[in-house]
Amino acid sequence: MAFAKRGASKEELLRHTRQVGNIIDLNKCMGCQTCTVACKSLWTTREGTEHMRWMNVTTYPGAGYPRDYEQMGGGYAADTEKTPTPGKLTTFSDVGDNFKFNHADVYYGGKGNKTHLKPSAALSGEDPKWGYNWDEDEGGGDWPNGYYFYLPRKCYHCDDAPCLKACTHNALYKREEDGIVVLDQERCNDDRLCVEACPYKAIYFNPVSQKSEKCVMCYPRVEQGIAPACDRQCPGRTRIFGYLDEEDSDLYKLIYVHKVARPLHPEFGTEPNVFYIPPFDSTKAFADDGSITDEGRIEAGVLIELFGPGVVDVIGKLKAERTKRQNGEPSEVMDLLIGRNFWDRFKGFSNDPLQEAM
Ligand code: SF4
Ligand code: SF4
Repeated sequence: MAFAKRGASKEELLRHTRQVGNIIDLNKCMGCQTCTVACKSLWTTREGTEHMRWMNVTTYPGAGYPRDYEQMGGGYAADTEKTPTPGKLTTFSDVGDNFKFNHADVYYGGKGNKTHLKPSAALSGEDPKWGYNWDEDEGGGDWPNGYYFYLPRKCYHCDDAPCLKACTHNALYKREEDGIVVLDQERCNDDRLCVEACPYKAIYFNPVSQKSEKCVMCYPRVEQGIAPACDRQCPGRTRIFGYLDEEDSDLYKLIYVHKVARPLHPEFGTEPNVFYIPPFDSTKAFADDGSITDEGRIEAGVLIELFGPGVVDVIGKLKAERTKRQNGEPSEVMDLLIGRNFWDRFKGFSNDPLQEAM
C-alpha cells in the first residue's frame, strides 16, 4: 500500500484512479448483525476499540449509532468552498459505552438464584442508560400502522470526504488504486478533527492509543480479490461490492443504468460510495375503518429525509419492475436484486478467504 506524501495537498489526498463501492438492499436486511459481528471480530478487538462498530445495523426510525448522529453536525459549511465544519464529538455514552457484567458474582458468589446477570456502564458503574441497539425494533408510525426497517451503516469512503479535509496532519487519504479512505495511525495526533467533521460519525476515537480509527473497507482482503467481511458474510444477500466503473457488474447496472440505488443523506455533499436500495414496499397500511389499503406504512417523507427527493422515482421504478415480474415479463432489475450468484454480486472479489490464506 502506497502512503500519501506528507506535504500533499487535499486534492492529492483525495485523488484516486478507481473506486470500490457497495449497494445494500434494505428490503432484504433482517437485522441479524452478522455483518456487525464479522467486522467486529476482524477489526476491533484491540484494547480501546471495545465501543467501536465500524459496521453497525440499527432500527429506523431510531436514534442510530452513535446515538442521534444525524443531529451532531459536521460535513460542509453552507458555502461554495466546501469547508469542513466541526460537529459534536461523540462520547462513550453516545456509542453505547461498553457494558460490564457481574459474572463473578453470579457464577462464583455462592448466592444461588438470589442474584442474576446484570450489566453496568463501564465508566460510571451505574445502570446503563443507553446501548448499541437500545431502541431495536421500536420503529415509528402510529398504531395500527407502526413500521420499521434496518439500516446497516459503515464509512461511505466519500469522494469529497470532510474527515480527510479537516485533518491538519494529513493522516487521512484515499488509496490511489481503489479510493478506500484510510487513516495513517503514525500521523494521527489525537485532536479528533476528523471525528467532528464526519457528518455520518463513522470515525471513532481509541482512548488507549489516543488515535482515531475507522473502517478500512477490508483493504487487505480487497487486494486479494476478496469482498469485505461484512459484505461476504451477509446471509440476507443484501450486499453487492466491487469497482463502481465495472460496467458489466450488478453494482454498475443498478446504480448507473437502472438508477435504483441512492446514497444516504446526499445533502451532506460528501459524495458517498455506498448506496442503498430503499425499502419500497412496507407492510400494507390499515385505513381508519380497519380495512387494509394498498398503501405501504412508510411515509414518502421518511425516505426523502434519508435518501433525498430522488428516492420517490426510485420507489416508482422498483414497484413497476416488480409488477412486470409478477406479470411474467422479464425484469433485469428484479433479477439483479435477487442476487442469485455470489460471484456476480462480488464481481472480481469472489475469492475465498480460506483458499487465499493457504
Ligand atoms: S463517511 Fe465519514 S469517515 Fe467515511 S469517508 Fe465519509 S466523511 Fe470520512
Ligand atoms: S448481515 Fe446482512 S441481513 Fe444481517 S444485519 Fe447485516 S446487512 Fe442485514
